[in-house]
Amino acid sequence: MQTILHTTGDVVLRATPTDVECMKGADLLLADGIVQGIEEPGVLISEWDATDASKNITLVNVHGRAVIPGLIDAHTHLVWDGDRSDEVALRNAGMSYQDIANHGGGIQRTVHATRSASEERLAAIAMQRASVAVRHGTTHIEAKSGYGLDTETELKLLRVGASIDGAGTLPSVQHTWLGAHAIPHGLTERDTIDMLLDEQLPAVLAQGLATATDVFCEPGWFGIEASEELLRASKNEGLEIRMHVDEFQDGGGAELAASLGAVTADHALKSNDEGMNAMAEAGVNVGWLPGTPHMMGIDLRDPSEARGAWTIASDFNPNCPSLSLPFAASLLVHKCGLGPGEALAAVTTSAAQTTTRSDGLRQGSIEVGAVADLNILRSGSWIGWCNSPGHSPFEATMVRGTMVHHENGLTPSSNVFPNIRGE
Ligand SMILES: [Zn+2]
Repeated sequence: MQTILHTTGDVVLRATPTDVECMKGADLLLADGIVQGIEEPGVLISEWDATDASKNITLVNVHGRAVIPGLIDAHTHLVWDGDRSDEVALRNAGMSYQDIANHGGGIQRTVHATRSASEERLAAIAMQRASVAVRHGTTHIEAKSGYGLDTETELKLLRVGASIDGAGTLPSVQHTWLGAHAIPHGLTERDTIDMLLDEQLPAVLAQGLATATDVFCEPGWFGIEASEELLRASKNEGLEIRMHVDEFQDGGGAELAASLGAVTADHALKSNDEGMNAMAEAGVNVGWLPGTPHMMGIDLRDPSEARGAWTIASDFNPNCPSLSLPFAASLLVHKCGLGPGEALAAVTTSAAQTTTRSDGLRQGSIEVGAVADLNILRSGSWIGWCNSPGHSPFEATMVRGTMVHHENGLTPSSNVFPNIRGE
C-alpha cells in the first residue's frame, strides 16, 4: 500500500547539531515501509489520479501539522519485571544507590523478579512498553539485557527483545548483551567475568542474540581491568562495544571507552576532561541520559561538555521508568539551555550513527530510501517537539509506513486529522 501525506506544516528532513533542514510544507510518498518521494506541496497530489483505483493510494491530509523523523532511543533496559518505586522514599531519606543495593534493593531486586517471570510474561511486558514508546514518537529502540545475570535468564531477555523487532507497528529493536550489569550475589568480580567469558558470551554468540556488548563500568561494579577483559573478548568475536561509564564516580571509564573504540559511552556524568577529549579523538559517542540523574536527584551535566558526538536517550530502567525522549530532551533544553534543534539531532541523526537496524534501512531522517518512520505533531511548527513534558507532542506516528494513531483509536484516513488551520 502507498500513502501520500499532504497539506503538511514544517517537514524536518534532517536535524544535525548545527542545522535543521526543514521544508515549509511537502508532499511525502510512502510505500513498502520506505520514503519513496518528497516533493513541494501539491506536486504529488496533482499527479495522483483519483479515478485510478488500482494505484491503491491512501491520501492523508494532516491539515498543516509538522512532520519530523521517528525518534531513536539508543539506550534502554526494556525487559525486566518487578517494581522498585518504593526506593524513591529511601533515596529521599538519604540512602545512596549503593546503600540501597547493599540492603537488597537496586538491580538485584529486579533480577530476582525477572528470573521468576515467564518468557511469555516478559514478552507481554516488553510489548506494552514498546507501545508506550511509540506513543512518544520512538520508532527504534536499543534494548539491553542485564536483569537476569545468569545465562538462562540473560538469553531469555534477549529472545524477548528479538520477538518485538519488526512486529506490527511496534518500534524496531536492536539487542545488546549486558551480562556485566552487576555482580551476582555470592560471586566475586573474577568469578563473574569467568562465567561471562566461559559460558554466557559463547551462548549469546551461538544463538546470534546480540549485536553489541555493554558493561556497567563503575567503581564498585565492574572495574577497568575486568571491563576491558570482557569487552576485548566481545570485540574479538565481532560484537560492538557500548558502555556505561562514570555515572557516580570518575573511574576511568571514558579513557577505556576511547582505547577500545566503543561505539558509545553513556552516562559520563563524572568523566574527566582528559577522558572526554580522548573519546572525541577516538570517535566515541557520549550518550547523555538525563532522565536518570533527574529521577535520582543528581545534577544534570551540560551536554556541551562532550567534545565530540553525543546523543540523548531515555535509559528506561526500574529507577527511571520513562520511555519519553521528548521528556528526556526537555530536561536538557529547559535546564541546560540546549536548543530544540540540537536536541532533535541527538535523538535522530546522531542516534542513527550509534544504532543499527536488522532490516538495514537508514533511519533518523526523512529522505528517499530511508525507512518511513516519522512523527506528526499537533502543531504546524516542529520546534515544540520537546516542549510538553508529561504529554506526548505527537498526534500520530508512522512506523515503517503504517500509521499508529494515538488519538481516539481512529483508523488512519484522509479525515482523521481535525483541521487546525481554521479553514
Ligand atoms: Zn543504562
